[in-house]
Amino acid sequence: MTSRFYFVNIFFDMILLDLSQTDPRTLPGINIDDHFYVCRQCRVKLTEQDYLFCVAGNRSFHTFKNPAGFEYNILTFTYCASYREISLPMEQDTWFPGYYWIVINCQECNTLLGWKYMAVKDESSIFFGLIREQILLV
Ligand SMILES: [Zn+2]
Repeated sequence: MTSRFYFVNIFFDMILLDLSQTDPRTLPGINIDDHFYVCRQCRVKLTEQDYLFCVAGNRSFHTFKNPAGFEYNILTFTYCASYREISLPMEQDTWFPGYYWIVINCQECNTLLGWKYMAVKDESSIFFGLIREQILLV
């Protein structure tokens, strides 16, 4: 039994040694603590994992169907760096009661990103619902 543990410990020591040699944090210009979401089409930085925001059921991941029957998986964020509003604020058929929705596209490549939500009672209160399939975590 003792010798078995000995070999296990040797094995873990080898793994730790190997990890320390390939730790990306030791490479210049790379910080593995940063997790960005970028536009899937043009790779412009849109937001970060730190901006994920829980809303409506205390979740940041939602699946909704619009009146035309299209289903969307969206992630909700408090911040988006690069977008263009392409519709007027609408309250009809909103997925988040009390919030207007505004269609947003990528500012760089004009791909549909999702929606900006703006509180009906306080237009400075906003969040973003970005379509999961349109963004990449890098
Ligand atoms: Zn883009």
